[in-house]
Amino acid sequence: MIEERFDAIVVGAGMAGNAAALTLARKGLKVLQLERGEYSGSKNVQGAILYSDMLEKLVPDFREDAPLERHLVEQRFWMMDDNSHTGLHYRSDEFNEERPNRYTIIRAQFDKWFSKKVQEAGAVVLCETTVLELLQDAYGKVIGVRTDRKNGQVGADVVVLAEGVSGLLGTRAGLRKTPDKSNVALAVKEMHFLPQETLEARFNLRGDEGAVIEAVGTISQGMTGMGFIYTNKESISLGIGCLVADFEKTGQTPYGLLEKFKQHPSVAALIAGSEVKEYAAHLIPEGGFKAIPQLYGDGWVVVGDAAQLNNAIHREGSNLAMTSGRIAAEAIFQIKSRRDPMTKENLALYKKMLDESFVMKDLKKYRDMPDLLHIQAQNFFLTYPQLVSKAMTNFLRVDGTPKREKEKTTFRSFLAARSLTGLVGDAFRLARAWR
Ligand SMILES: Cc1cc2nc3c(=O)[nH]c(=O)nc-3n(C[C@H](O)[C@H](O)[C@H](O)COP(=O)(O)OP(=O)(O)OC[C@H]3O[C@@H](n4cnc5c(N)ncnc54)[C@H](O)[C@@H]3O)c2cc1C
Repeated sequence: MIEERFDAIVVGAGMAGNAAALTLARKGLKVLQLERGEYSGSKNVQGAILYSDMLEKLVPDFREDAPLERHLVEQRFWMMDDNSHTGLHYRSDEFNEERPNRYTIIRAQFDKWFSKKVQEAGAVVLCETTVLELLQDAYGKVIGVRTDRKNGQVGADVVVLAEGVSGLLGTRAGLRKTPDKSNVALAVKEMHFLPQETLEARFNLRGDEGAVIEAVGTISQGMTGMGFIYTNKESISLGIGCLVADFEKTGQTPYGLLEKFKQHPSVAALIAGSEVKEYAAHLIPEGGFKAIPQLYGDGWVVVGDAAQLNNAIHREGSNLAMTSGRIAAEAIFQIKSRRDPMTKENLALYKKMLDESFVMKDLKKYRDMPDLLHIQAQNFFLTYPQLVSKAMTNFLRVDGTPKREKEKTTFRSFLAARSLTGLVGDAFRLARAWR
């Protein structure tokens, strides 16, 4: 029997759930948020880069008390082979602005802070509470949840599913399919602690400045994947992730890749002498626009990673989670204000509002990119990075070989790896997917 009723139940206290619960509670709705972890953030893994703009829409003065690590002034992109990297670095003093645009954060600390804001807004937040199933009426309308607590049935007009990438509740209830293995990456991450001065000297940082590195190439052994190195105040977050389907196919292990990544000469120098204190593994939805499931139905909406809202090309996820959570809450509030029921027809407003936001516009723009990168993984993540490294060595090594001959050697090595039509085809496909 259902003991208690709420206007809305939010399942999950990650970025999406906290954004949704905060917005709903601030608008005066009776909100229950349920989180299976010991506290908000205890189960969550992120690199982690935080995007200010999306948080400002929820907590405009967050810089006053949020646990932020470093504001980012430098971004590096590396294309790696086994011994070298070819880099594109962008550093600007303009990022030393009064209201910096990107920060590094540590999710366990950040989510706790975020959750406190949700509680201050008036939501009831219950941690160490796992939602076991969605309660549905005879017509399939979601009318509440059953938790692992004693007498744990709770009713609500609407349930916001912010349960993260695996999204077991939604799939169990038949609201969407289990994400395909070729649309989900498994990432592993370690935290490397170093004295602050050492870290700042290695990355050329002053004060709270931060730098991040994103890396592709032979580190993923021909699989679709990426490595990352992010600077915190006194630690470096370092990790790598590849598609689950590729791990299955190749028999490679995430931990094996991480070890190799750490041993790469370009990386080893940055983490030398560090103390490793944490190790975590987590999934990331990477299927993009085509993998997005049904986002709403009778009595429910799905937000954040559970809705596969992740822009893998730009390495953005938490901001899409916060935005979808906020927009879902705003849609629910509008429906509630009109005293309309939380039917599928009415909750379509959430999708309409999301379509008008950067979330869907960006994901739609790159809709062909995940397929292309997966199908052409060997070329984009192995062959081309190796060729670029070869070309760079050849270009920079001064050994009396005439330059014209060097250029011919480079050109021939590209042709030996891929025919001219293959090269042009890849360039064309990449440009088309990027349009
Ligand atoms: C290694 C890694 C690096 C990343 N780096 C970045 C980055 O730098 N920047 C960025 O923007 N994004 C990054 N992301 C993506 C980002 O972490 C996610 O997009 C974001 O956390 C999604 O938020 P969410 O609230 O949807 O899901 P989550 O943060 O996963 O939260 C889901 C919550 O639901 C809870 N939950 C699940 N099931 C239940 C249940 N049945 N009952 C109760 N509670 C439940 C979980 O415990 C969890 O707290 C990264 C991800 C990974 C794995």
